[in-house]
Amino acid sequence: MLRRVGSVANRTARAARGCWSRRTPGFRNDVSTVPTRPAPIENLLLAALSSEDRLRLIGDGPPVDLALSQSLSQSGDRIHHVYFPIDSFISLITPGIERAQLEIGLVGNEGMLGVPVLLGINVSPLRALVQGAGHAWRIDAAHFLRVIESHASIRTALNRYLYVFLAQLMQTATCTRFHLVEARLARWLLMTRDRAHSNQFHVTHEFLAYMLGVRRVGVTSAASALQRRKLIRYRRGDIAVLDVRGLEGAACPCYAIDKKIYGRVLGKARGSRQHAGRESGAVRLAAQIAGSISC
Ligand SMILES: [Zn+2]
Repeated sequence: MLRRVGSVANRTARAARGCWSRRTPGFRNDVSTVPTRPAPIENLLLAALSSEDRLRLIGDGPPVDLALSQSLSQSGDRIHHVYFPIDSFISLITPGIERAQLEIGLVGNEGMLGVPVLLGINVSPLRALVQGAGHAWRIDAAHFLRVIESHASIRTALNRYLYVFLAQLMQTATCTRFHLVEARLARWLLMTRDRAHSNQFHVTHEFLAYMLGVRRVGVTSAASALQRRKLIRYRRGDIAVLDVRGLEGAACPCYAIDKKIYGRVLGKARGSRQHAGRESGAVRLAAQIAGSISC
């Protein structure tokens, strides 16, 4: 169930900035000894747009709350809304045959949920499940389509993300086929950390198995190996990333490849936005990405 939040008085200003104050995240943060990074307050795709374009897209309504494990769509569902996560993040899961389901994408404040609408299609091919509770901008799909059809600047900016999204799906296919579970788990933990904006988050063992498409015993073995190397701490679903660089070294190359593609493609916004005298959120993320990997 979605619940609207925020005061009416500040809606327009917040919408123009594309940002929102962070509140306590939905996942449990009871591993309190590991320092966390500063919390972001904006969706970086929206932040890369001009204030006029952001207002055209998200209007003057406040963001909505997304609850942990909330289902936003099932495969085959009509898409009613497009979401731009702020401090929430969403798993994209293939349609299952019996228990054979696999997470193939993770969307946080670097992206959006509802890319089929960019292509003029209003049916979801995937299940979308909230994995990190928090806020997101929610836009009526019909309104979203009208806006991108009539404003080429917005469509062009979001098409860049579509490219990145498709590249990440292809990378995940390779990852699932060729890379070992321990390296895939390290990649997945880093992706989740990036979108949780915290070194601590909560995820159950069963859900990890589900996300990696392996049996629980496989997750146990991989998590134990990472724990023995003092890269993470895992206790009853509470995960603490203890050594980010070490975990990056343990991850398969897909993590760095995803980041390079994001930085390369969305970083192209740098020229036009800097020309306008203002650095975009996507550009800041690209710079952050470029500085955080060594490949
Ligand atoms: Zn991989």
